Amino acid sequence: MNKKQIEFFKAILNRQIDELLHHADHMMSEMSFQSSQESESMDRASADTDQSLKLKIRSRESLLIQKIQQALERIEIGSYGICESCGEDISILRLKARPVTAKCIPCKEEEERIEKLSDN
Ligand SMILES: [Zn+2]
Repeated sequence: MNKKQIEFFKAILNRQIDELLHHADHMMSEMSFQSSQESESMDRASADTDQSLKLKIRSRESLLIQKIQQALERIEIGSYGICESCGEDISILRLKARPVTAKCIPCKEEEERIEKLSDN
């Protein structure tokens, strides 16, 4: 990958992380607003469900933030775009579709296959 491509992905990752952090802020303020109203609500059970759903979304978001930060670290140390499992270059097309990825398609598919097996 050349320097221009690295800069391209760095910009994408930085923008994604900005958006996520902004979104997380927004959601936190929304949540504290809701919990202040909660005491007046008779419908506590559904409020709790709503809350836990939001926390679930939020933990998924922070997981993505972590992944983006790791991708940015790989850019810094120069290992971005190289599969962490087999050491081969990850295709630019794959990186464009999923900039946080640390694995090439064959390794990712293998990983998913194993995850599926352990689910059952
Ligand atoms: Zn690989």
